This record gives sequence, structure tokens and C-alpha cells, in this order.
Amino acid sequence: MKNESRVRIFRPPNPSRWSGAAPSAFVILALLALLLVPMLVQGRVDRLRQEIEESAEPSRALLAEVQYLLARQSSAVRGYLVTRSPDQLDQYTRFVARENQIYPELEAHAAELGASIVGDIAELRALSMHWHERLMLADLPEESITPEAFEAALEQELYLRTLEAAGRADLALRGAVLERRHEIRRVEITAGVAYFLLFVVGLGAAVAVAMLNARIRRLAEEANERRLEVERALDETARALEGRASLIRGFTHDVKNPLGAADGFADLLASGIRGELTETQAETVARIRAAIRGAIEIIDELLDLSRLESGGLHLRREAVELGSLTKEAIRHQAGAAAREGLEITLRVDENEDLVAYTDRDRVRQVLGNLLSNAVKYTPAPGTVVVAIHRNPSDPPRAGSWVAISVTDSGVGIPKEELERIFDEFHRVPGSTGRGHGLGLAISRRVARLLGGDVTVRSTLGEGSVFVLWLPIRDVVEEGGPAHA
Ligand code: ADP
Repeated sequence: MKNESRVRIFRPPNPSRWSGAAPSAFVILALLALLLVPMLVQGRVDRLRQEIEESAEPSRALLAEVQYLLARQSSAVRGYLVTRSPDQLDQYTRFVARENQIYPELEAHAAELGASIVGDIAELRALSMHWHERLMLADLPEESITPEAFEAALEQELYLRTLEAAGRADLALRGAVLERRHEIRRVEITAGVAYFLLFVVGLGAAVAVAMLNARIRRLAEEANERRLEVERALDETARALEGRASLIRGFTHDVKNPLGAADGFADLLASGIRGELTETQAETVARIRAAIRGAIEIIDELLDLSRLESGGLHLRREAVELGSLTKEAIRHQAGAAAREGLEITLRVDENEDLVAYTDRDRVRQVLGNLLSNAVKYTPAPGTVVVAIHRNPSDPPRAGSWVAISVTDSGVGIPKEELERIFDEFHRVPGSTGRGHGLGLAISRRVARLLGGDVTVRSTLGEGSVFVLWLPIRDVVEEGGPAHA
């Protein structure tokens, strides 16, 4: 059905593509951040803990052992000086050996904790080594040594400096541990704030997405409802039109046949075959025939309207010379115009090419209607002028056009009626002259079917200009138009 194709034109509103994408992207970013931030934070905290557990704590333990060994070495040397026992010297030598074993391990751990600690350990080792060398070189007096000589033999001052260096290294290690613990705390607090902010942002975006989704769903539902309403309305209209068309077809068929027969009989009477008629009788028969023709005219117009509505009006396009077709239409109306005391004038430039690829009978029908209206609504002594122009300056749409205008100096049409006169069965209130308000409705529909239009300009009491617009199409061969 013709109307159904229009249903498809109705689309649900298309909400902006980005209005939903931005919050969604936000949610995804927030989720990604919620995933990545803990990983980064955990990585950093793990590294700091590892530094404490695998470097700082073992370093402190090793350093404590070095301090212990230094003390034992000192007491072993003292013991030797007092007892001269080789065991004491052995002990000292073992402690030194153990101390030397510790340094490489201690230095490896210290390397993980920064250059300053490495420096402290190096200083300790250098002082300790120096102390041991001095002890080795010391000329330890064999007997009856004075307390001064005893102190000197022990290299006490160097020993104390070594102990201080060990104390400094221990302090630095403790500082390194503390520093890392503080760092862990700082990272954890920052991460906590970041989680909270991300959570708030993610929550906001999720709410925005949910609201947008709800709105889109509502809009889609509304659009669907409206589509269904339009479909229902179109179905009803189509059914009503179909009903009306079949009613008109049945009615016109049933009425037109007896009317045709009645006209035939009246013709028979008028011809005198059934006996000569008196003047009054002949006049009456003529009136009967005019009434029958009027009725048949309405029926034909109704049929045209019905065909136009149901798409049953088929066009036969051909190359039509519009100048001669217009002259023919004017000739056809000349009798009626003469009866009204009017003359129809044609203004056309004979040199202009006025060929259009269109339906001759339909153009003739529209022109006939416009001319008969001009004659009908122009009291004598008025004028009716027909003009044909190729490509006039004010076309209804872009393209190439022929405009056939019918200008009369008749009664004119009130402004508010200018569009309504194209409605079916509409007549300007108080219209004189025979008519039933179908001619213009049919004319405009036919013109539009031909790709053109019928337009009107009018001034009440001064006259009207009706224009039939037809698109020009170049004809290449009998087959059809080359282009629009
Ligand atoms: P009708 O059969 O009544 O003429 P139309 O559809 O042809 O039907 O015209 C509709 C109405 O438009 C007419 O009844 C008339 O009032 C008005 N009309 C049409 N043509 C003219 C004209 N040339 N001058 C003034 N009024 C006109």
C-alpha cells in the first residue's frame, strides 16, 4: 500500500552519540584506575618492605656482629697483654677472620640502601683494618708495662674511632629503616585518598550513565509508542481511503450508467425522432441534458479524485508542445467565454522551445479547469490572459520549468482562502457560479503527480493569477526523458 511506505520514514529520536559515551568512558577510566592504582601502590610498598627486610635488617644484624667482634678482639688483645697466652692471640685472629668474612655481605646489603650507608660501612671497614694493622705492627712489650704503654699497645684511640664509625653506620641503618617505614605510610595514605576520589568519580559517572540509559530507554519507548500510533492512524486512513474509493467506484458505476442512458433518451427526444418538440419542450429537454452533463461531470471528477488517492491514475508521458496544447484548451473554453462576454487572450513567444515530457491529457485537464474557473469567476467586461514562460524567475523549486499562467480580472479570492480553495469540496463562501469545489483539488494533485504544481496569487475585487508549473525534461527518443 502506498501509505505504508511513509511509516518507515518515522524514526525514533536519535540521542546524541557522545552524551552517553563520555560518562561510560569515565566509568571505564575510573575502573581501570581502581585496578592500576592498587597495583602500583602495592608494588612500591612491597619494594620498600623488601628493602627493609632483605637489606636494612640483615645489615643491622651483621653490623651488630661486627661491633660484638670488635669488643671481643679488644678484650682478646688485652687478655694476651696480661696473660701472654697464645690462646688469646688465636682468639683475636679468629675474630678478625670472622669480621673480614662479614664485610662483603654487609657491603652487598648496604649497596641496596644508598651511597651514604655504603660510605659509612667503607669508613668502618677502613678504620677497623687500620686498627688491626697497627696492632700487628705494635711492639708489644714483653713485661712490666706501664698503663700508658698498655693503652698505646692497644691502639685505644684508633679502636674507639672504629667503634664510633660502627655506631654511625648503625645509626644510618636505623635511619634508613625509619625513612622507608615513613615512605610506606605516606604511600598508603596517598593511595587511600586516591581510592576515595576514584570511587566518588566512578560512582558519579555510573549514576550519570544509569540516568542517561533510563532517559534513552524512555525516549525510545515514547518513539515506539508514537510510531505505533502513526502506523495505526495510517492504517485507519488507508482503510478509510480504500473504503471511500470503493464506495465512489461502486457509486459512480451505478449512477453513471443510468445517467448515460437518460442522456441518450433526452438526445433522442431532442433529435425529433420521437416526434417534433415544441419550443418549450425543446428548451426543457436541453435543461435536462445540461443537468445530466453536470451530474456526469461531478461523477467524473469524483472518479479522478478516487484514482488520485488510491494511486490508480496512470500517466502516459510524451513530448508535448505546450503552446499548441494551450491554444487548444483556450479554443475549448472560447464558447463559454463568449457566452459570458469575455475573450481569452494568449501571450506566448512563438520562438521559445516549449516542449515538455509530460501527460498531454492531464495537462489539458488542469488547463481546462483553470480556464473554466477564470471564465466562471470573471464578470463581463473582464479579461482573461493566458501566458507561457520558460524558466520564469520565481519557480517553486530549483530546476527547469514552464509556467502557464491564467490571469483574470475577476472577483478575486480573500487571502485566508488562498490555500483552502485547494481542499476537496471547498468553495469560497458566497461563491457564485456552478461548481462543487473539486476542480482545484484535482488540478493541484494532478500537477504534482506530473512533477509540477498549481499556485495562486489573488487580490479580492481585482482578480487572480493561477499558475500551472511543469518541469521541462529533454526528450532523447521515444523511450523517455534524458534527465530531469
Ligand atoms: P468549483 O467547482 O467550485 O469552481 P474549484 O475547486 O475549481 O471548484 O474552485 C474552488 C473555489 O475557488 C471556487 O468555488 C471559487 O470560490 C474559488 N475560485 C477558483 N478559481 C477562481 C478564480 N479564478 N477567481 C475567483 N475565485 C476562484
